[in-house]
Amino acid sequence: MASTELLLLAIAIMNTFLGFMVAFGNRKDPVNRWLGVFAGSIALWAISLLVFRSTDNLEFAQTALNVSYVAAVLIALSFYIFMHYFPTLEKFGMVQKAILSLSSVFVVSTLFLKNFFVLDVVVRGGVRVGLQNALGYWIFALYFVVYFFGSLVVLFRRWQMAVASLKRNIGFIIWSVLTAGILGVFFNLVLPSPFFMEWRFTWLGPIFTAIIVGTLSYAIARHRLLNIRVIAAEMLSVGIIFVLFMEALFAKTEQERILRLIFFVVAGFFSSFLVRSVRREVEQKDELERLAKDLEFANKELKKLDQAKSEFISIASHQLRAPLTAIKGYVSMVMEGSYGKIPMKAEEPLRRTFVSSQELVSLVADLLNLSRIESGKIKYEFKNVDLKNIISGALKELEEVAKKGECKIEFSNMPEKVEVSGDQNKLHEVFMNLLDNAIKYSEKGTIKIGASVKGQGTSKKIIISVIDSGIGIRSEEMSKLFLKFGRTETSQKIRPDGMGIGLYFVKRVVEDHKGKVWAESEGAGKGSTFFVELPVT
Ligand code: ADP
Repeated sequence: MASTELLLLAIAIMNTFLGFMVAFGNRKDPVNRWLGVFAGSIALWAISLLVFRSTDNLEFAQTALNVSYVAAVLIALSFYIFMHYFPTLEKFGMVQKAILSLSSVFVVSTLFLKNFFVLDVVVRGGVRVGLQNALGYWIFALYFVVYFFGSLVVLFRRWQMAVASLKRNIGFIIWSVLTAGILGVFFNLVLPSPFFMEWRFTWLGPIFTAIIVGTLSYAIARHRLLNIRVIAAEMLSVGIIFVLFMEALFAKTEQERILRLIFFVVAGFFSSFLVRSVRREVEQKDELERLAKDLEFANKELKKLDQAKSEFISIASHQLRAPLTAIKGYVSMVMEGSYGKIPMKAEEPLRRTFVSSQELVSLVADLLNLSRIESGKIKYEFKNVDLKNIISGALKELEEVAKKGECKIEFSNMPEKVEVSGDQNKLHEVFMNLLDNAIKYSEKGTIKIGASVKGQGTSKKIIISVIDSGIGIRSEEMSKLFLKFGRTETSQKIRPDGMGIGLYFVKRVVEDHKGKVWAESEGAGKGSTFFVELPVT
């Protein structure tokens, strides 16, 4: 067999293989089915051209040539339909379906009309030539060019609308189809036409299809239309079983045959087991990938939502702060008598208004602090500050709240001045939180604020303690306190309005001051002590 014939045979085998692989890769998907038909038609084309070129019987050669034209019709048609379905399935309308089938049936039937298209097969100068009728030729050429290149127009429109990743893939297919198409048309349609009668290069057409087949297989494998691993496992198993069966068939003795048959059955059993497990694994992997993608998407959406929530809280709390400060300020001035003496009866309601507005102020401060932490926007202005001053300021603000709760507040062992390097406002909020909690979770009793100094020189530290005699904390709940939204069970019952943000903020600020904060308690109902340790400047 000459090398050109061998090449044609190789193309035929390759396409038959691909056709089966694709079609059986996913039998239900029309994309796979039509690509299978496309590959099969190329195989038929290559084989018929091979027969046309090599048979000794010229009559048979003419039949083979006719078959090659039928194959070419199938190639153009299946490619057009395939392109319509790939990569997104688009349904054909009734009219489109009618045009597709009628035109194809018409062109194929012209091949069987006597003396309409292929007239005869002759040998000229050692080359086999098909004599063609010009009208028949034109009808066929028109059909082929319209469908084959029409599919490129469809593909080009897909390319225009596709997303970046798909665009590259589709662009790749367009180029390969265009190259192979133009070369194929030139060598198999233009040169052998009744006008040039050049039949020497007809074997080149099928060879160029290898470009299309290659790129399409690649594109399909990338789009997961084809499970290469499953198909490879299937092919391998079928191959092995086939060989074993043949061996059994051609065994020399009866004994050997039985042995080989047993071997064949066992191998068959294990192969099916292997194929099934590969299939399951591939399916699971696909499913996992899909889930991971879904999760990634959900995660992104959640992050966006979370950010939107933080921004909303930040804006809302900023807007709330100004009017609240005004309310608190005016009520406090009215209570102090700045607008004249107030009647006794008004004192209590005014005090309640003040305490409520104070509670609202801490709530808004909590929310603002939370959104600052979340967005990473806590900013500090460090300078030398006096802790005693800060604590007294916080106590002054909480005076009314403490009175409402009938709490007594005492300073013990507090030096005249305790200087640390820190942010005045943030440390103020730290002690507001600790003292507010001490009052909130005690109701009655005495709150003691103490200070002690430890270390020398650069490692000198001051430890402030806030001791209350309130609800206390059970040891197993200790770890919750400084977490975001962390609250003990008892506190949730007695103060359902709390949010569990205050201590989370306290910890962050104290740590940003290179300090430490912790709590101690003997247990439920036995009071608690909160310690803040800060380096002394
Ligand atoms: P909130 O007071 O709004 O709940 P915090 O972050 O200030 O939020 O406090 C977190 C939790 O720590 C409180 O819910 C409470 O369970 C506990 N806690 C804080 N301070 C005290 C205290 N002085 N005594 C007992 N429990 C406390």
